[in-house]
Amino acid sequence: SVLRTGPPPMTPELHRAAHDITATLLDAHHVVVLSGAGISTESGIPDFRGPNGLWTKNPGAEKTATLQHYVASRDVRVQAWRNRVDAKFWTAEPNAGHRALVTIERALGDRFGLLITQNIDGLHHAAGSDPARVVEIHGNVREVKCLECAYRAPMAVALDRVRAGDDDPACPECGGILKSATISFGEQLVEADLLRCQQHAQRADVFVTLGTSLGVYPVAALPEIAVRRGASLVVCNAEPTPFDTLASVRSDLPLGTLLPAVADRFGIPDPNSRI
Ligand code: NAD
Repeated sequence: SVLRTGPPPMTPELHRAAHDITATLLDAHHVVVLSGAGISTESGIPDFRGPNGLWTKNPGAEKTATLQHYVASRDVRVQAWRNRVDAKFWTAEPNAGHRALVTIERALGDRFGLLITQNIDGLHHAAGSDPARVVEIHGNVREVKCLECAYRAPMAVALDRVRAGDDDPACPECGGILKSATISFGEQLVEADLLRCQQHAQRADVFVTLGTSLGVYPVAALPEIAVRRGASLVVCNAEPTPFDTLASVRSDLPLGTLLPAVADRFGIPDPNSRI
């Protein structure tokens, strides 16, 4: 075989999935996309529950993402800060999947309603998704927040303190516990953000999930809201999800391959198709 660069070969499976997804999107009036950790694995950020997921490999790691354990145990916080210092977040770049989604968003224009991401890595923004149409429903890692007072600061400031030897940096204003400005398990979502997502899910006629196991609530209830109102559901995930039976299109292809194939179809006329 010859060495080659460029896009992966168009297999019949990829062709069919890209065609079905594009056809669904082109018929839509209000598209809502929900992304999860699976869209960022090809940027080198592991997911939680996939075959190479952080929790699959080390079930104890779940504690650092659970508010109750984080507050109760200095050891858990020290581990969480060590993880943050070493995290892939600071060097990761958007992959072909994030970039293709931007192309799709722009092609759909006002018919693209909202991109809801459970990811905290900021890669949709970095790829160029319209920030006015992105909701980071689980927060992001760019900032730290105090759990006692209103103090917020850039993450870099806290990481510098950790690197300088402060293994559990406290709030400089009130001495409270500091944490990344993400929503941990056991923590309340931002009410206005959740409401906005629910309203868009109700209006959606096409709801697309990308790289999420759909196991974290209340976010996982959003596709159900949309389907109950008659929306078509498109589920793109490497492994089965509880929503597969509700989906009108289902693909387990890697998102870094699938989404560029969909994006291409918006630009290149296909003589064999009405798209
Ligand atoms: P999850 O780990 O529960 O599920 C990810 C799913 O993506 C898996 O089912 C996996 O099979 C699939 N997947 C992995 N790589 C894929 C690829 N290239 N193409 C297609 N599918 C792929 O993730 P979740 O549902 O987002 O829930 C985890 C929670 O953890 C989220 O709430 C999120 O806040 C957080 N999290 C975020 C990041 C991040 O910001 N990148 C990473 C890990 C966890």
